[in-house]
Amino acid sequence: MQNDFHRRARLQIDHAPVVGISPEEESWLNIHTINCTECRDYAEITARVIQGLGSFSFHVDPGLTERVQKALTRSAEAVAASHVLRRKFFSGAVIALLLTWVGSLASWKAAALVAAQIHISPWTWKTGVVLWSLPSLCVALVLICGWPYLAGNSYEEREVA
Ligand SMILES: [Zn+2]
Repeated sequence: MQNDFHRRARLQIDHAPVVGISPEEESWLNIHTINCTECRDYAEITARVIQGLGSFSFHVDPGLTERVQKALTRSAEAVAASHVLRRKFFSGAVIALLLTWVGSLASWKAAALVAAQIHISPWTWKTGVVLWSLPSLCVALVLICGWPYLAGNSYEEREVA
């Protein structure tokens, strides 16, 4: 039973500075700490610790806030520029890919005429036309799909200066 009183007193000592305790609890705690050396010592130590924590002060460099703000602004601008560049790059790759396909289709008849003139089998010239557009198709796909890897995340690697 005595242990429960000590436990109750220490809980109230802990709660008093943070959430507060009722006047009844406070008067019970005062009576208990007058009669109980252990809980009185606990209350004194707690009060000293809280007082010690309150005396900590941190000197903040006045320019630090400005430097952090500038670094955050630069980082946000880099992200925004990266998004704009990514969008331009993507649309450029899509346009290049479309032009490649349109050019291949447009040259299809001309290739057929030339192949007939120089007696090349149809599957050979058709394969040639398809293979001719394949490198540009691959480059466009790599640029479209691999852009985030090609661009890197350089803005994340910048140090805060
Ligand atoms: Zn006690």
